[in-house]
Amino acid sequence: MKSIRVHEFGEPHVMKLEDEPTPTPAAGQVLVRVRAIGVNPVETYVRAGKYGPRQFPFTPGSDAAGVVEAVGAGAARFKPGDRVYTAGSISGAYAELALCEESQVHPLPDKISFEQGAALGVPYATAYYALYNRGAALAGETVFVHGASGGVGTAAVQFARAAGLTVIGTAGTDAGRRLVADQGAHHVLDHHAPDYLQQLMKFTADRGAELVLEMAAHLNLGKVLAVVAKFGRVIVVGSRGPVEINPRDTMGRNADVRGMTLMNATPQELKGIHAAIVAGLENGTLRPVVGKSLKLAEAAKAHELVLAPGSHGKIVLTP
Ligand code: NAP
Repeated sequence: MKSIRVHEFGEPHVMKLEDEPTPTPAAGQVLVRVRAIGVNPVETYVRAGKYGPRQFPFTPGSDAAGVVEAVGAGAARFKPGDRVYTAGSISGAYAELALCEESQVHPLPDKISFEQGAALGVPYATAYYALYNRGAALAGETVFVHGASGGVGTAAVQFARAAGLTVIGTAGTDAGRRLVADQGAHHVLDHHAPDYLQQLMKFTADRGAELVLEMAAHLNLGKVLAVVAKFGRVIVVGSRGPVEINPRDTMGRNADVRGMTLMNATPQELKGIHAAIVAGLENGTLRPVVGKSLKLAEAAKAHELVLAPGSHGKIVLTP
């Protein structure tokens, strides 16, 4: 099979399309014929050597959608031919075939395309984990999705809107803001505008947002602590460096700053998260947005694009 292999940490060009033997699923494992692959920012950090040690060579990626090719003994939830998405992979998702633990594989409803299915694993699970497991979101509250035009943000807007929260989202471009509105945000702001946080205060009658999902804490944590409501929660979803905050901004509000990584979700939490994702796909409240689709051989270009401004949903690769 063809797969992207990384033999050393470095710039995007260290990813090479190579031939590899086809894996055979052992007991409890599922082999997926990959039709589309989701590209996440974390894969750029791993490739660059900024996120955890790795044994070389490795194939990046956890998120794919496709069709079950073969199952190992005891992997009874699936059979060859089933449409599935993956949220994690033993062999890596940037490939024609991905070997997975059965628990990393989930059913993909017929009305969801493979490219949309590749947008689910990390982004939708992160959005849910941020909103509910870490954020304790409640219907009737206001959530500020700070960075709503990308993979996690669009998912968070869809989940929150369907659950009865008032949603305020941001994007950095006109096209991004139209996209955020289309996902169901009640109010959309430009995170480059000088007065956008004052506008947020107006939308909330000066109360602030009960919940903030922060995609760029290294730029924004100090600022958003001033627009969080009393007893509010700021969930640090993304951060690429240090930031200065004024702790006093948390005090009068009894505000919490809660970090998270999806990797800390327990097997039980992941089971619930994926049950919610599959239900949302089935009932039409979750509609993954694919902004760009490239060939697997263009993985290096996809890694440059996923870190560039002007997000528009998900970037996917097709083998
Ligand atoms: P993405 O698709 O590349 O989207 C990035 C988002 O950040 C876009 O909406 C972008 O908006 C927005 N953004 C850019 N500059 C911003 C600013 N100054 N203020 C607010 N938002 C800004 O990435 P993603 O997959 O959604 O992931 C978002 C972040 O969460 C990344 O840093 C990622 O590494 C992290 N993440 C963390 C976890 C975890 O477990 N903690 C899981 C998944 C992702 P424009 O492009 O429109 O400007």
